Amino acid sequence: MEKILEVKNVSKRYQNKQGEVLALQNINLRINKGEFVSIIGPSGCGKSTLLSIIAGLEEKTTGEIYIEGEKVEGISPKVGYMLQRDCLLEWKNILSNTMFGLEIKGNNTKEYKKQVEELLKKYDLYDFKDKYPSELSGGMRQRVALIRTLAVKPKILLLDEAFSALDYQTRIMVTNDIYNILKKEKMTALIVTHDISEAISMSDRVIVLNARPGTVKDIHKIEFEIENRNPINCRESPKFSQYFNTLWKELGVNE
Ligand code: ADP
Ligand code: MG
Repeated sequence: MEKILEVKNVSKRYQNKQGEVLALQNINLRINKGEFVSIIGPSGCGKSTLLSIIAGLEEKTTGEIYIEGEKVEGISPKVGYMLQRDCLLEWKNILSNTMFGLEIKGNNTKEYKKQVEELLKKYDLYDFKDKYPSELSGGMRQRVALIRTLAVKPKILLLDEAFSALDYQTRIMVTNDIYNILKKEKMTALIVTHDISEAISMSDRVIVLNARPGTVKDIHKIEFEIENRNPINCRESPKFSQYFNTLWKELGVNE
């Protein structure tokens, strides 16, 4: 299998007023092309820190990150990032918002505009292209944020609690929606969530981290024998509750 991301012996030590915090210690993981992997673990175990390091936004204390075999030094153009806040610009319309990543990169050409418009059409947002973010629902805003991210053609998408601001019903629908788009676009995804169900429903593997310092405790392979699996239909499988119980127990020990 073709490997997209490799994290090798990554540790992170923060300095703060109280002294030093060892946030991550000797993290090793690899993610193959097309794989969806979730990271779960108690609050403060270093999940966001790990994603920021992979994106090149945060410096690591030791170790290396490789994306498609290339060492990540500084902000990586191969990484797309989605946060809890969709970070849409309220004064720009939907088309401008989705073009924004390309503008920053200086790729704001006619050809790219056409590609973005195609994405908007494909994912039912074209009719909203002249509207402003405040006119859209939370779920639609996340879809716009996703298209903006996909427009710059990242090799891997990092999601940090991307759905946690949405209410329960919306979250289930939006997770399903985003999952289907990512699969259609053949993306690779690394998902951080505190929600065990979300992790199981979206992933091929779930990585459990220990708290302080964050280390890899266990890696679970998630498999459902469902044709056209998606986050909603796998919740109905008996295997879903088995995985849930296993992960629940494993996290409980940490609390
Ligand atoms: P998580 O996302 O799993 O909740 P974080 O990655 O945000 O965890 O934080 C991991 C640990 O590192 C926590 O103990 C947190 O207080 C500490 N930390 C995070 N960011 C900073 C920072 N900029 N300066 C100092 N300590 C930090
Ligand atoms: Mg976090």
